[in-house]
Amino acid sequence: MRISGLVEGKRHLVGLAIIPVMTLGAVCLGVLAGSGGAHDVKVSAWDREISLSTQAATVADVLAAVNISLGPGDIVEPSLDTPVEDGMEISVERARPVFLRFRGRGFSVFTAEDRVSLILSAAGIELEPDDVVCPGLDEVLSESSTIRVAKVTYGEVTEEHEIAYDTQKREDSSLEAGLTRVYNSGVTGLVEVIYQVKYEDGVEVAREEKVRKTVREPSPLILLVGSLQQVSRGGQNIRFERALEVTTTAYCPCAKCCGPTAVGMTSTGLPATKGVIAVDPRVIPLGTRVYVDGYGEAVAADVGSAIKGNKIDVCFDTHEEALAWGVKKNKVYILR
Ligand SMILES: [Zn+2]
Repeated sequence: MRISGLVEGKRHLVGLAIIPVMTLGAVCLGVLAGSGGAHDVKVSAWDREISLSTQAATVADVLAAVNISLGPGDIVEPSLDTPVEDGMEISVERARPVFLRFRGRGFSVFTAEDRVSLILSAAGIELEPDDVVCPGLDEVLSESSTIRVAKVTYGEVTEEHEIAYDTQKREDSSLEAGLTRVYNSGVTGLVEVIYQVKYEDGVEVAREEKVRKTVREPSPLILLVGSLQQVSRGGQNIRFERALEVTTTAYCPCAKCCGPTAVGMTSTGLPATKGVIAVDPRVIPLGTRVYVDGYGEAVAADVGSAIKGNKIDVCFDTHEEALAWGVKKNKVYILR
């Protein structure tokens, strides 16, 4: 008679419920087989399987007979006080350490349970309604996992955020093409936001916006963009494509200005003389005809190691003239 199928996988209550049937069967077998009360049982304990014939009275006696001693947290099925029956299968599950992180505090429990809810019960943990448990209570814990129980709280946080301003461009026919002017500096806006924040063990895990209030509206940056393409200089109309604002320095063909090996020639082969300027070719391409305020018409025909970006070097015939020029901020018109 095999009754283990009924017992297997159920906890002690099921085992108790069928005891009358088992007892009857055992008595009958004992009488018929004349075995003197010996029962064939099987014990499965972690990596061992033992089959034996025993006269032990209870599950506890069987385990003692095969030298299995139990530690805290171990699970025996059926329970230790269950009377031994023929064909009984006894399983012993060894407790192993499970690491718990409970409201920020860490500790280990020894348990053979593998379901999260049962492990927490075994550890004597009582949950509160707002607790969050990970993995979930119905999950089965794999080896070497951790259960985390965190207290959930809520709070309100008020923050101020900046609102970026737009940039608007406006054409200005009184400003030279190529130049821009700030008409109105942009001002960032300010908004106050109240969030409801969810914390687990004091650490923010989520937030939801509740109220948003504008403290200050942003004000746009207004940029004037020049469209003027003609200016009058000394009674002469100068038509140009675009203007640049540059820093100008001056030089002449002398050795002081161009080094001891100076031969009075520009890098493009033109003589270094009035009417020639040195440029950064990435800003003003070589060969470009220009008008320089305070200097006059010129051609971009030279380069210089110090002439990078919005800088030009205007050439004079004499060193005195170059010295007199000094350093100026002025406009260069790129001629059509
Ligand atoms: Zn010079």
